Amino acid sequence: MTPERLKNYVNGAWVEAKTSHELVLDNPASAEIIGKVPISQPEDVEEAARAAQAAFEVWRNTPPTERIQYLFKLKDLLERHFEDISRQVTIEHGKTLNEARGEVRRAIENVEVATGIPSLMQGGILEDIARGIDEYVLRQPLGVCAIISPFNFPCMIPFWFMPYALATGNTVIVKPSEKTPITMGYIFSLMEALDLPPGVINLVHGDATCVKALLEHPLVKAISFVGSTPVARFIYSHGCAHGKRVQAQGGAKNVTVVMPDADLENSIRIIADSAFGNSGQRCLATSLVITIGEVHERFCEKMAETARAYVVGDGLDEKTTMGPVISLESKRRIEGLIQKGINEGAELVVDGRNTVVPGYERGYFIRPTILDGVPWNGEIAHTEIFGPVLGLSNVNTLDEAIARINSMHYGNMACIFTSSGAAARQFRHEVQAGNVGINIGVAAPMAFFPFSGWKESFFGTLHGQSMHAVEFFTQTKVVVERWLKDWTRRF
Ligand code: NAD
Repeated sequence: MTPERLKNYVNGAWVEAKTSHELVLDNPASAEIIGKVPISQPEDVEEAARAAQAAFEVWRNTPPTERIQYLFKLKDLLERHFEDISRQVTIEHGKTLNEARGEVRRAIENVEVATGIPSLMQGGILEDIARGIDEYVLRQPLGVCAIISPFNFPCMIPFWFMPYALATGNTVIVKPSEKTPITMGYIFSLMEALDLPPGVINLVHGDATCVKALLEHPLVKAISFVGSTPVARFIYSHGCAHGKRVQAQGGAKNVTVVMPDADLENSIRIIADSAFGNSGQRCLATSLVITIGEVHERFCEKMAETARAYVVGDGLDEKTTMGPVISLESKRRIEGLIQKGINEGAELVVDGRNTVVPGYERGYFIRPTILDGVPWNGEIAHTEIFGPVLGLSNVNTLDEAIARINSMHYGNMACIFTSSGAAARQFRHEVQAGNVGINIGVAAPMAFFPFSGWKESFFGTLHGQSMHAVEFFTQTKVVVERWLKDWTRRF
């Protein structure tokens, strides 16, 4: 059977992209072909931008209290199709069903928070800034906003932005990752039932060509991007140069510190999930552990046992505890980095390369891998691996560990495992990372908190989710106002 080619969704209708250029999509567990994605061209972006701009005039004049009614319906839709969406995520991305369910739940939480927009959008007012004069702030939408997402959370990441953009009165163009575009296509097909005015939500499939057209289009006012650091840096500079408001979340190399007083058994279970969950393809994955003092040997031994116990396979099988990585190219890149770590002097404690899962011989599997004694001056200590590979190293003091973390160019997440309040407090205060976990392995902020990221993990000022999203998607207008009963008497 010829695999179905995805369509764009523009102005309330499904349309073919104006291109014959397309990519074949496969299920990473089986390498079975599951669809084709068009590589949309600037003409497709043009069509979406015009539709979104026309819809903006209607949508911005729809009261926020009415706009959020669509979000309540959206929440209901997502809840009713929770299992279908989760399965779709697993099929195209590879993560386990439970991980996919967690992702869909996070998406829904953002819809829930955005239903509070009538409260969140309120500006301040000061009566009588001078006699008889009042001053207040209005928050107004920006216009057409583009959302560009990575492959690793095909459902959740667009929802860090889309519900807030819509609730504040903007119209959107979503450009999913060309590696995992089917889920968002499915969600848009569900969203048709919302009966939004045509053009309020638009979906354009494609790659860098499409992104560049969005960055340069005069009708696009804001760009929300999540992806790797080199691309995030380009998005920020190119978008700003074209006068857009830009928020660009980038890559990561997250370090977790294990103190000698940590509850070892629980810490290992939690850190293993952080390192190997989602097959290590999370921007909040622990990639390196720094143990302090003599705990190192016990940690290494027990972490190796835990890593070996993972059940690797098809994410749709409920027994599977870790799925494949996204593609053959990615598998080769990750295996190459493991070899690089060995070449740099690290000891390969658990080797996940050359994994073959019976019945899924063509799948892109790598079992959990552990490299001990990762040299700090090597490349592997500073490179984002984005696969199920955990590096270990050891220092004598927390000060040394913090200094190492702070010398890194990324700053997405840092975690500490300890039973000492003083150590936790020092870490929280001094560490240079936007998301900090204390006895937590994946410090993912809930929807009502901003998804922070520092240094080269973020380019911009306002982050995704929460009040940051409300501020990002609105511009303030300050009104100074005088209404006097008797003008002649007062002047
Ligand atoms: P990617 O940077 O390759 O792609 C992200 C998006 O950018 C895609 O939609 C893609 O089409 C587009 N793109 C790719 N190359 C481009 C170019 N040259 N010009 C313009 N657009 C381009 O990222 P990925 O491999 O899909 O995702 C993994 C990366 O995302 C990792 O680095 C991970 O850490 C990061 N990530 C970060 C966060 C965060 O919150 N900071 C969250 C999830 C993922």
